Amino acid sequence: MTMACSRRLRRLRPGLTLLAALTVAATFALRGTLLATPPSPAGCHAASPLLAGPRPARPPPSPPTLAEIEMRNGALWSGGFYSPPGCQARHRTAIVIPYRSRLAHLRYLLDHLHPFLQRQRIHYGIYVVEQWGQGTFNKGILLNAGIVEVLRDADWSCVILHDVDLLAEDDRNTYTCDNYNPTHLSVAIDKFDYRLLYREYFGGVVALTPEQLRKMNGFSNQYWGWGREDDDLWKRVGLSGMKVVRPSVKVARYKMIKHERDPGNEENPHNFDVLKRTELDWRSDGLNSLSYKFLSKERKALFTHITIDVGEKQT
Ligand code: UDP
Ligand code: MN
Repeated sequence: MTMACSRRLRRLRPGLTLLAALTVAATFALRGTLLATPPSPAGCHAASPLLAGPRPARPPPSPPTLAEIEMRNGALWSGGFYSPPGCQARHRTAIVIPYRSRLAHLRYLLDHLHPFLQRQRIHYGIYVVEQWGQGTFNKGILLNAGIVEVLRDADWSCVILHDVDLLAEDDRNTYTCDNYNPTHLSVAIDKFDYRLLYREYFGGVVALTPEQLRKMNGFSNQYWGWGREDDDLWKRVGLSGMKVVRPSVKVARYKMIKHERDPGNEENPHNFDVLKRTELDWRSDGLNSLSYKFLSKERKALFTHITIDVGEKQT
């Protein structure tokens, strides 16, 4: 019985018979049920009936071609967008993949991710943000640029930053955002024995709302080459008054496709020094100081392909 209903009953005149009171109660209860029925088209409920649960990722020896993946994903709109049929999606999620020269991994991921997200009945779009040229990789600038470009592209309520080589192994790990805190989705990775690498680990796959990203000023732009930009991101979450939340280790499981360190992304020992300065720099180094050159945006069948120039290595 609703609060309003019990308040009404308390105000009933004493002369009313018990039968009449019960009739009134039944009427209000029925009206409550009717009001709780979602309007048409029905909203997609939190738990999708299409979920398959735990499913170890077993990528085939060679990845399918983009044309083969396209054939299996007929319901996509150009640009790699999807909206669940028959119900109103509760979330609008942009997946942003930082990328350069990892085509085999991208093909594995797209083949895996499209059906995975469709089982979750989420309204989503996949963006591949590519760093142009052979210069030193800068994942922070690439992701900051990706965030700016996708939020310019459409009205997303959640942005998921997703390494190209991680395949989720349980579709109950929902690709949506928490309203208040940034979410770390890749908690348990096979490469690390399905255990959290360390408490402050905030890399791999993370989900943030546009508001959370603005609050923490996105990523630092100062990490050239491999290492520590994800530890910097962890610190920014705390410094801006938020905390990282995580789904259960039982559900947030991933397979990482094996790979060597990429050319142009060698470990940079200087990144440890940059990390010592997060507390001093985070307010002025990030989305609000971002500089990059936009080169192109192309709507492909399975994703929207954005290419940017991050500029020359600074440190
Ligand atoms: N990445 C890429 N090309 C590169 C370097 C990095 O596409 O040359 C992207 C890719 O999405 C990758 C992520 O950056 O998953 C993180 O790099 P890496 O996998 O080397 O880091 P790890 O977390 O495995 O140490
Ligand atoms: Mn990797």
